[in-house]
Amino acid sequence: MTVASLRALHDQAQALDAADPLAALRSRFALPHNAQGQPLTYLCGHSLGLMPLDTRRLIDEELQDWAALGVDGHHRARRPWIDYAELLQQGLARLAGAQPDEVVAMNSLTVNLHLMMASFYRPTGRRRLIVIEAGAFSSDRHAVSSQLAWHGLSVEDCLIEIAAPQGQDVIGTAALQQLLAQRGDEVALVLWPGVQYRTGEAFDLAAIAQAARAAGACCGFDLAHAMGNVPLSLHDSGADFAVWCGYKYLNGGPGALAGAFVHQRHARSDLPRLSGWWGHDPATRFQMAAQFTAAPGAAGWQISNPPILSATPLLASLPLFEAAGAAALQAKTLSLGSLLLDALATHCAETLQVITPSSRGCQLSLRVKAGRDTGLRVFDQLTGAGVVADWREPDIIRVAPVPLYNTHQDVAQLVSALVAALRT
Ligand SMILES: *Cc1c(COP(=O)(O)O)cnc(C)c1O
Repeated sequence: MTVASLRALHDQAQALDAADPLAALRSRFALPHNAQGQPLTYLCGHSLGLMPLDTRRLIDEELQDWAALGVDGHHRARRPWIDYAELLQQGLARLAGAQPDEVVAMNSLTVNLHLMMASFYRPTGRRRLIVIEAGAFSSDRHAVSSQLAWHGLSVEDCLIEIAAPQGQDVIGTAALQQLLAQRGDEVALVLWPGVQYRTGEAFDLAAIAQAARAAGACCGFDLAHAMGNVPLSLHDSGADFAVWCGYKYLNGGPGALAGAFVHQRHARSDLPRLSGWWGHDPATRFQMAAQFTAAPGAAGWQISNPPILSATPLLASLPLFEAAGAAALQAKTLSLGSLLLDALATHCAETLQVITPSSRGCQLSLRVKAGRDTGLRVFDQLTGAGVVADWREPDIIRVAPVPLYNTHQDVAQLVSALVAALRT
């Protein structure tokens, strides 16, 4: 590869940025700098999204209202705290492809996973298996294994982990469908990622939910890497539940309020659930009756009153998705991703293997072919060159050009830094 072809890449990126209808949105975010004040090339929105600039003002308003009103802020704050979770409902429902009453902002992701499994993992008779993908995010693996133990069951007997075919990275849906066809009557719950955190593979959620439900199993999705990243149609998928976090593509800040989806067919169900006063029907919640009457819909799974300061950043972030529009976001995701894929094919084909399949969102996972030692050195050099990516053992660099705030120039920067790092 030549310096000239890298120059051509930067020119192409500049032209694409000049024609980008979403370009202005970048100025709505705080863009990280290094210690010398130079801008970083931030490609880690799959791990922690950037801060929308409106966040500071909105949080300050909550602090002002708390300072000025004390307890009266529950009703008299400019955004009354008593209904705060509802302020997020429309925006989350649109991103999830759900009805507003099917979504609720609450807790954190793994907590929500446990709450959903309390209702939707009900092993009975022969039907006791939980099916997940092999190599699932550790927290999800811990959650399902502890749920099994909670029911007096063992991982050995009751957890099925579906791997990609030998020597491959893409899991697909064939093996899951086959398992459901063969042992469907033993499966109690299929818990599947929307986008796999390590490989970036996006799944056909409707096909998975349909196959699980046809086998008589419940189906839940972990959308940690899918919410705000890929188009979702949770309602139409027929999934029983889904969970997500607020701090990755949703830009809600570290430890942000997470969310859950419960399909409308369960809106008035008497499924067992782990309850608290905030899931009580709000019409009578403050009568403080001993008897629990669930609020209809996903809201009925709330336990506690929401942490306002962890919810506020989402009020700054969700309107940016609205302003952009789902179609434009999707188009830019593809544009950034294809620029990166083309440039990697031109400049890094010998040294890097892209393990993310064409079914994907923003994230691309790059395997360093020379292995872990070289990979770590390349990753450190990227960091030194001001590129913020992340490392997944044993040999994967993850990057995510995010359509709300990344540019095609960011992609060109990444490729230049990779070329330099892989040359030495
Ligand atoms: C980010 C992520 C988590 C993190 O869980 P928290 O409860 O938010 O700490 C869990 N599972 C998956 C798949 C993730 O991507």
